[in-house]
Amino acid sequence: MAVRRSFKFLLRPTRQQEIALAACLEDHRQLYNAALEHRRTAYRRAGVTIRYGDQSSELKHIRADDPEGQARWSFSSQQATLRKLDKAFRAFFDRVKAGRAPGFPRFKGRGRFNAVEWPKDGDGCRWDSQPAHPTATFVRLQGVGHVRVHQHRPVMGRVKTISVTREGSRWYVVLSCDEVPAEPLPATGAAGGIDMGVASLVTTSDGEHLANPRHLAACADRLAAAQRDLARKKRGSNRQRKAVARVAALHAKVCRQRLDTAHKAALALVRAYDVIVHEDLRIANMTRSASGTIEAPGRNVAAKSGLNKSILDAGWGVFLRVLAYKAESAGRERIAVNPANTSRTCAECGHVAKENRVTQAMFRCRACGHTAHADVNGAVNILRAGLALRQAAQAA
Ligand SMILES: [Zn+2]
Repeated sequence: MAVRRSFKFLLRPTRQQEIALAACLEDHRQLYNAALEHRRTAYRRAGVTIRYGDQSSELKHIRADDPEGQARWSFSSQQATLRKLDKAFRAFFDRVKAGRAPGFPRFKGRGRFNAVEWPKDGDGCRWDSQPAHPTATFVRLQGVGHVRVHQHRPVMGRVKTISVTREGSRWYVVLSCDEVPAEPLPATGAAGGIDMGVASLVTTSDGEHLANPRHLAACADRLAAAQRDLARKKRGSNRQRKAVARVAALHAKVCRQRLDTAHKAALALVRAYDVIVHEDLRIANMTRSASGTIEAPGRNVAAKSGLNKSILDAGWGVFLRVLAYKAESAGRERIAVNPANTSRTCAECGHVAKENRVTQAMFRCRACGHTAHADVNGAVNILRAGLALRQAAQAA
């Protein structure tokens, strides 16, 4: 069995390469905005829809007219940017068709366009280009040169696409690979349910608490302070530029921590369980937003501010994506269940009452007196719901 996977590495560009990378991103941004302008005008003035194919065939003229600018970069990467715009328009027309408020695709301001993709390794880019340097890894990018890569782990499978992203002041290369061999883990004979919470990102039905997101919350506090600071700065001033850089750097840090936390928690789970049952996050988010807050918040809840809450919400989404690919690669089964009532049902006797949940952490059944950590009680219910679903599916 083989799977698709991406690998992300920090780039170590020279000063000159950094300038070239910034120019590459900026030209792709301007290409995106020009193509958007073209489509907007045609649509608004004449009701004409311009298609990707039309814009792609314009590219060679644009390049011919701008030998020192647009012509420096890979034709294919420019096509990828036009396809990105095409995708935004398709989503726009889908929203129109569905009768929803259709926000028109927007122009990308400076700092709002942070990725360029080369759709095929070997076409305007080359992974592991090895410019006479046997030990280090380099990626060659047309117009930029051989950029050194901090390759902290091996790449598996076949490199399909190469992207470069800017996050704050750092540059990364992202490889999307297919035919990555799956690495099945030996069976453990165990099934586990997980509760996704606030005090611990994940609590298992066996009572294990994984990934305390406290450091994430601390980072979120600093981010909120940096955002307030930014709001006080005068537009276009030097201080504002610096404040923007600080906010961007903290955002990037939050992202890295979130991913790191998710990887560790997911790895522990796929090692321990053959079957992993979790809440269906789409349903969980609906119930959360309906009640206005995370269920039964206690005193020690990190979700005290909207920012903290959104950071935790994003944390659960990232965690489930990481878990999905790790489970697939390890040959583990994953089941998503409706989380309704899992936090207020007694795992011992099945009695359902809001009052069973005494505090954020404490569960005490009003009917049978069963006491447990509330998240563990929830995880046991989630496991039970998942196994029931599985049994029903096998019987059918
Ligand atoms: Zn009970």
